[in-house]
Amino acid sequence: MGDLSPHFSRREFRCRCGCGTMDVDPRLVAGLEKLREQLGGRPIIVLSGCRCPEHNAAVGGAAQSQHIAIEKVQPGRAADIRAIGLSVVDLYRAAKRVPVFRSGGVGIYPGERFVHVDVREQPARWARINGRYVGVPDQYETEVA
Ligand SMILES: [Zn+2]
Ligand SMILES: [Zn+2]
Repeated sequence: MGDLSPHFSRREFRCRCGCGTMDVDPRLVAGLEKLREQLGGRPIIVLSGCRCPEHNAAVGGAAQSQHIAIEKVQPGRAADIRAIGLSVVDLYRAAKRVPVFRSGGVGIYPGERFVHVDVREQPARWARINGRYVGVPDQYETEVA
């Protein structure tokens, strides 16, 4: 039982630099609950949630990253996630089926083995391959029969 939602806790979304920043958009948490449910209750690990601007810069995040959170000013709207026992490609495809992520941002990081989801206002898709941001290759988009 989490203290943010049934399966997620505040500490999972807190900035990893130790500053204590934790102000998360509730739509992000609701979307992650929906994703978890869609995966049959498979646990989702949050690798990075809220980031203060300094930590975001330190980890090489985009200047306008959806992870950036400033308490009581701007909630964090992004999470980098893994699901136990699920490939990054399957997690990417599942994330795109959650309405709030489908209309927001979903990125796949095959090398780092995580998926980024966010609740921005317009759809965005990308992949990070060999250290570069590129369009999502077809083999990740398409379900294999
Ligand atoms: Zn911080
Ligand atoms: Zn991210």
